[in-house]
Amino acid sequence: MPNFIDVIIPVPLQKLFTYSITIAESEFLQPGMRVSVPFGKSKIYTGIVAKIHNSPPTTYEAKEIHQILDEGPIVNEKQLQLWQWIANYYMCTLGDVMRAALPNAFILESETVITKHSKIIDESILKDDEFLVYEALQHQSSLKIHDISNILDKKNVLPVIKRLIEKEAISVEEEVYEKYKPKLVRYVKLHTNFTSESSLQKLLEDLSRAPKQHQVILTLFSISATTKKPVKVADLSKESDASPAIIKSLIDKGILEEYFIQTDRVQYSGDENEDSKNLNEYQNIALTEIKESFKEQSVVLLHGVTSSGKTEVYVKLIEDVLNKGQQVLYLLPEIALTAQLITRLQNYFGEQVAVFHSKYSSHERVEVWNNVLNNSAKAQIVLGARSSIFLPFHSLGLIIVDEEHEQSFKQFDPAPRYHARDTAVVLAHIHEAKTLLGSATPSLESFFNAKQNKYGFVEITKRFNDVLMPDIELVDIKDKLKKKQMKGHFSDRLIEEMTEALRDGHQIILFQNRRGFSPIVECHTCGHSPQCPNCDVSLTYHQYRDQLRCHYCGFVEVMPKTCKACGSPELDNKGFGTEQIEAEVTLLFPDYKVARMDLDTTRGKYGYEKIITALEQQEIDILVGTQMLTKGLDFRNVKLVGIMNADNMLNFPDFRAHERSFQLMLQVSGRAGRTEERGKVLIQTYNPHHNILQQVSTNNYIDMYNEQMNDRYNYKYPPVYKQIKITLKHKDFSRVDTASVWYAKSLRNVFGDNVLGPESPPIARIRNQFYKNILVKIPKKQSLSKTKEAIIKINNSFLNVKDFRSVKVILNVDNF
Ligand code: ADP
Ligand code: ZN
Ligand code: ZN
Repeated sequence: MPNFIDVIIPVPLQKLFTYSITIAESEFLQPGMRVSVPFGKSKIYTGIVAKIHNSPPTTYEAKEIHQILDEGPIVNEKQLQLWQWIANYYMCTLGDVMRAALPNAFILESETVITKHSKIIDESILKDDEFLVYEALQHQSSLKIHDISNILDKKNVLPVIKRLIEKEAISVEEEVYEKYKPKLVRYVKLHTNFTSESSLQKLLEDLSRAPKQHQVILTLFSISATTKKPVKVADLSKESDASPAIIKSLIDKGILEEYFIQTDRVQYSGDENEDSKNLNEYQNIALTEIKESFKEQSVVLLHGVTSSGKTEVYVKLIEDVLNKGQQVLYLLPEIALTAQLITRLQNYFGEQVAVFHSKYSSHERVEVWNNVLNNSAKAQIVLGARSSIFLPFHSLGLIIVDEEHEQSFKQFDPAPRYHARDTAVVLAHIHEAKTLLGSATPSLESFFNAKQNKYGFVEITKRFNDVLMPDIELVDIKDKLKKKQMKGHFSDRLIEEMTEALRDGHQIILFQNRRGFSPIVECHTCGHSPQCPNCDVSLTYHQYRDQLRCHYCGFVEVMPKTCKACGSPELDNKGFGTEQIEAEVTLLFPDYKVARMDLDTTRGKYGYEKIITALEQQEIDILVGTQMLTKGLDFRNVKLVGIMNADNMLNFPDFRAHERSFQLMLQVSGRAGRTEERGKVLIQTYNPHHNILQQVSTNNYIDMYNEQMNDRYNYKYPPVYKQIKITLKHKDFSRVDTASVWYAKSLRNVFGDNVLGPESPPIARIRNQFYKNILVKIPKKQSLSKTKEAIIKINNSFLNVKDFRSVKVILNVDNF
């Protein structure tokens, strides 16, 4: 009779804890169910049963569990298998994985903060003990678990809390996120019946007896002639001095036609599903090749240029999998998870699409979790960012990783420091499912895997509808400066192209990968530049608020009037960010609407969505922004893209800087000219002969790949070598210094020259913590698991040195 269980609890412990259970409990319990367990002197945690067995722990006496919290498993065997893989591969604990994997509401523990639910409930549904907690929350804004223990005068309170959450009487503290519903703007145009010369003539004659209506039509013409943009009802009404009723009567008579831009963004309303599109020749070939390839390979890389119609190919594959009764996971970088794509998929698949988003409330996340767990019809396709690999899939048939090159698939902090693309491949393997990786600019590691025949490979080289790839022009700013052809940060070429695009009623995107006004402020007299007191970094000037800010720790101070070192009032700005570009454009093109999209403008509620909607609805003529602009957005009317300065991306101190710059520039370029007219891209640089820029301007992925791979071979970088980064941090520099030297020396004893460092990173101190990095490079032939075992051994001895115990160590496998 099994009478012990191993339990995963959401804290970073090397080993699982064993608890004892009664006979009755052992008949009921299954792996994947939650139990509440005592831990340490007075803590309680929610744990997940990992294993049921009958071997007692040898070094301690097993405690009894408090209570079983579920009727059946909420985590399935396949997930537990994946958790174990993540813990081993990324060198973290199962507790770390559990915390990342489960929605907060599932993990009740001593630290959980309980608040009142915003809904008013019928108190009569509450049992006595539930009511006591509920009542206490009417007087106090929040309670912790031990407060509730005191109120109920018992230890074992998690079941009560769980029932209260299910009854929606209380919530677990979190940020609440509501879905954004864009306000629709009404536009009008002349009905097509009247667009011919003669019918128009007749219309104006007919209206001559209705002077107000006549005036409206004339005003419509004059507005269209000057702006070439869609005409808003509000503007028409204002300019023609006509009441909305007059415009409405023209619409009712069928003279004007009313329309909305992007009406398809409205939430799926349950109407008939649309049929998927007929693929064109190239898409069809790609689809056939993918299916062929899947017969042999479990992973296929689809390299399709921007706007080649990859999404429609995915849709066909999804249809097949659904027909077989299996689930699909569609992974996207967080920021590309836009309403545009959600709506597109909902149009085809209706209610079968579930969206999983870190910004959703925990209640919504629990709902998606349960729908996936129960294999409900409402969750056959899950569209989500990296954390959706943790959902309780029942039988996955296909995982799509779109924009597979995106860095945001990697979680950097906290542990587990997993890469969702690579983890997806393992998840698919557990389900015996297929994985499709898609990108216009594949990561070197995926392309490398394809070349090694580890992955299948399929290409689409043409944009859909024969739209041409944008014309990319490099602008030499050094030369322009010499010839005095720069206005601020704008070359004459950029200004010319902008003027033309605006004149034709097109929109423009300007890309600058730094936010703020200027990253460095320097005293003209003594050279002093204000530094962050907590980090080794210069403060960035934000003109809009007249502040200096640290982008690493959030430190803020008012911009000083004089130099703090010498008192001189002459402070210079060096370098430039999005804010400065925005200010310059506003001066250069005062008649046009300019907006900015970066961390600063999108932080607020719906910040991001509002800007995207405004761009779609053509409320914005010129959008200035950071990398946020690059992600899978489809704007019909953007004709010109300007990259303000390619050099600071290229010079970034990272072995992937060149690869990333290539990807970034091609992705931003891909936003230009997605319809009939060919898009234009201008890249400003001091170094137009840089190989990466040449490769970008000719869209030459293969050249980029070959050249970069050469470097990777020569300098032993991924994907040729694997690597593990070990970061040590401490508030005392000499301690972290000594510790890192010790650590590196021990590693060198085992791995020799394949250990680099310790080295201070470019920003050596952040939030008053000093950092040191050590890199372990691992040749393909060397066993990865043996390598990790050796590192763990060294790490354990390290932690046993008394002086080092307070130094925090971060192990990061595949740290790029
Ligand atoms: P990608 O994902 O490769 O950038 P998309 O799938 O977004 O490209 O396709 C670009 C545009 O072309 C979209 O507006 C899409 O609706 C359209 N499109 C793609 N394939 C088809 C098709 N077979 N029939 C009609 N329109 C298509
Ligand atoms: Zn000074
Ligand atoms: Zn700082």
